Parts: sequence; C-alpha cells; structure tokens
Amino acid sequence: MMAALLAMRPMSTATSSAECPKCRAVMIHVAVTPHPVVPHMSRNTFVCYGCNQTRTYMLPATEAAAK
Ligand SMILES: [Zn+2]
Repeated sequence: MMAALLAMRPMSTATSSAECPKCRAVMIHVAVTPHPVVPHMSRNTFVCYGCNQTRTYMLPATEAAAK
C-alpha cells in the first residue's frame, strides 16, 4: 500500500522542488515572487548549491493566490 502512495506523486509537489539540469541534484526552493505581467503566475526561484547558480521557473500561482 505504501509503495502505491510513493508511486503516485501529485503534480502539486513539483512546485516545491526542481531538478538541476546540469548535475541533476535537487534544487532548493528559495523564493516565490509575483509574476511581473501575468497575475495568476508566480516566479519560483530555485538554487543549486552544487553548481552555485539559481534558476527561475514560471508556475501557476494556485497555492498562494486565493483570489
Ligand atoms: Zn547543479
């Protein structure tokens, strides 16, 4: 039963983790800021400590924005 739960990973968890395209390490979610143009989107900043670089992903702001 527990194996089935692990296999079914909801898409919503993807907003809190990202994989580094270079070293494939799990990048740390450091910041969420509003999208400058699109209201229902948010800029999610992730950092990889192995490569010492940040990446920003535009994701739907379904969690924070309740309007
Ligand atoms: Zn990396």
